[in-house]
Parts: sequence; structure tokens; C-alpha cells
Amino acid sequence: MIRVVLFDLDDTLFAHRAAVRDGIAAHVARELGTVDAAALQDRWDDLEEHHYHRYLTGELSYLGQRHWRARDFMRPLGVEFADDAAAEEWFETYLVEYRRAWTLYPDTIPCLDALGGTGVRIGMITNGELGFQLAKLDAMGLTDRIEQVVTSGEFGYAKPDPRIFLHACEAFGVAPSDAAYVGDRLQTDAIGAADAGLTGVWLNRSGVTSPEDDAAVAASGVAVIRTLAELPALLALWPTSRSSSD
Ligand SMILES: [Mg+2]
Repeated sequence: MIRVVLFDLDDTLFAHRAAVRDGIAAHVARELGTVDAAALQDRWDDLEEHHYHRYLTGELSYLGQRHWRARDFMRPLGVEFADDAAAEEWFETYLVEYRRAWTLYPDTIPCLDALGGTGVRIGMITNGELGFQLAKLDAMGLTDRIEQVVTSGEFGYAKPDPRIFLHACEAFGVAPSDAAYVGDRLQTDAIGAADAGLTGVWLNRSGVTSPEDDAAVAASGVAVIRTLAELPALLALWPTSRSSSD
């Protein structure tokens, strides 16, 4: 049976993408006045995806990915930062707006409440920096609900590397087969967890899939949910034959 449920943070429990889009729109509106917010939001999303991935693979430092995002975003708008300090200052100002837009998904607390009532233990694995992710948990009132928080920044390996999933299971003292991992990214989260021996759950809030996604879901055997409200029933029904003896 599932004794530990591990969650991703950004875009799983925490509405990261919405906060990013609101944050950059507010930031550029104040700096540049009226702008085409939607196009800039899309470009900011793309730059985050690109440069944050470079950080996760070790190509850039955490602060380095911030500076690259700031530079690449502002250059087409005619702004060149004189140095890293100037890029960092711009990014910190954006973060004020990002933080202002922080919010949980409406299904987060009800799901954690429902799981808590079953005696399941709750943890987190997130590809990020410990301090920054803990600040989100604190601001969202989640700190006391998450027993163990594993971050790639602290551990040194990022999802989908199986080592980070196994490390979290060890922190709880359970076998991977006794743990489920829930996240919004099919490959990084759900299939990564399944490859490490956990029950992988893909939270696909949009419901949009590609033929490649469908094939990957079928091949990996991960479960797919549209909202966190589906999770408690899914885990209760998960076949016990998949778990180790206990
Ligand atoms: Mg995520």
C-alpha cells in the first residue's frame, strides 16, 4: 500500500506559472508602461524553461540562470544590463511582483487534508533551491504539512534522476514501492518516479496530451489525474500487488 505521498511543488501544489505570468506583466508594465503583456509573458516562460534547464543540468549557477533570463528578456526591448549586479537587481524587482502573485491551487489544501486523514505521510521533491522553495511553503502555510522536503539544489541531483526519488524514500524509511510521486511534468515527474520504482502520477491539469504523451503514459504505466481531488481515491484503489510486502 502507499504509505508516503511525495509532491512536486511548482505547478502541482503551487500555482507557479500563473504567478510568473502575473509577476512579469506587472513588472514590465511598471518599467515600460503599456506593453503586449501576452507576448512578453510567453517569451518570459520560454526563457525560464530554457535557462532554468541549464541550471538543473549544471551549466549555469542558480543566480546565473536569473541573469541570463533578465538579459535575454530585456535585450529585444532595447535594454542591456551593464553587469550581473544590474541584471540581479532587475530580477529581484521582478521577484517582488512574482511573490505578490503567489497562490496555491484550490484543490491543494483539500487534497492534503484528505490524505492526512488516511495516515499517509506527505513529502516533497522539487527541482529548485531549498531556501527559495521553503519560503514558498512558509508563505502558503504548508510548512507543517510537509514532513520532508528534498530539493535538487541541496541534494545535487535533479528529477528525473532516480537518485533524488530514492533519496526521498530513504528519508522516510520506506521502499520506493510504498511511495507515490505526483507532479505536473510527465517525463520529469511521473515517469521519472516510476523509473525509480515509485507509483508515478501525472497531474495533467489542462487535459491536453500529444500522441507521444499518450504512448509514454501507456508504456510507463503511470496514472493520470486532472485535479488533486482525484488523488486520494486513486491511491486507495492502487493495486496492493504492486507494493512490497509489509
Ligand atoms: Mg512542477
